[in-house]
Amino acid sequence: MEIVELADSPRPPRPARVVDPLISLVVPCYAESETVGLFIEAVDKALPDKRLEYVFVNDGSPDDTLDKLLAFCRRDPRVVVVDLSRNFGKEAAMSAGIDAATGDVVIPMDADLQDPPEVIHDFLDRWNHGYDVVYGIRNDRNSDTRSKRMTANLFYRLFNRLAETEIPRDVGDFRLMDRVVVDAVKSMPERTRFMKGIFAWVGFPSIGVGYVRAHRAAGTTKFNYWRLWNFALEGLVSFSTLPLRIWTYIGMSVALGSVIFALVIVLRTLVFGRDVPGYASIMTAVLFLGGVQLISLGVIGEYMSRLFLESKQRPLYLLQGIYREGKHVQKPQ
Ligand code: UDP
Ligand code: MG
Repeated sequence: MEIVELADSPRPPRPARVVDPLISLVVPCYAESETVGLFIEAVDKALPDKRLEYVFVNDGSPDDTLDKLLAFCRRDPRVVVVDLSRNFGKEAAMSAGIDAATGDVVIPMDADLQDPPEVIHDFLDRWNHGYDVVYGIRNDRNSDTRSKRMTANLFYRLFNRLAETEIPRDVGDFRLMDRVVVDAVKSMPERTRFMKGIFAWVGFPSIGVGYVRAHRAAGTTKFNYWRLWNFALEGLVSFSTLPLRIWTYIGMSVALGSVIFALVIVLRTLVFGRDVPGYASIMTAVLFLGGVQLISLGVIGEYMSRLFLESKQRPLYLLQGIYREGKHVQKPQ
């Protein structure tokens, strides 16, 4: 595995670690009944001698995922099941799992085995060297379609140009976090959870490990382009205020341009007299300015809607229950 040293590690790594850490794997599951069994099998095979805690979050699956998970939970004391009251989306499901995880280190993973469990050995190795965050970098995205790679590329470029927090490229949610980082992430109060951004914002000594992203083990993807677009928009407006501020400058340049244009028209009329009334130029100006105004209203709307969501102070997710060792544990709230 390739180890990528990052220049932006905020302070030198701290050594001294727990000898045999409890590793919590946080796995959001939406309609993953085919994959959970394969997942446990593959992880146990890859990490036979580690202390593991499986935190599966059932994100309101319409199929029999919950029954499958509870069957594992009864059989295997390492399996914890967090059952949400409905589908809250992957980001909220991950938050629920991270809240329930008790491990010394926490690793969010997809249920479909696209995040290869063998990489966790490299994660632990780096963690033992003192890094609090070790994130997986997708070296080769051949398992994704061409258009998904292209749009992802565009998103990282745009995000890192606009946002105050830089997120490393081709880094998913698959990463190891030390308990200190987990507690920091848990203390972030915002309701709109763009986890990649939050993980990057908390900082701590970080390092990347390259890996090759596998194909889905079974089942189908739950993310279509409309969901991805909304996800990207969420990320941008939660971590950047530039789209709001940029309208001042666009407005100023348009106003300046129109003053100059007005001067030109006045001068031309004085020198050459009145010419044929310009229908085309008026229409262009009206339509262009109308468009600019609608876009800027839309941008303000995006931020307003998030303010609205935050001000409602609703919980991130609601629990139907948590199950440990096959038993229903009451809601923690
Ligand atoms: N997922 C979830 N809630 C959702 C959608 C997806 O918990 O509403 C989970 C899903 O079960 C999987 C992970 O998020 O464990 C990644 O989803 P998927 O593999 O469909 O996305 P992709 O890898 O294609 O981006
Ligand atoms: Mg997947």
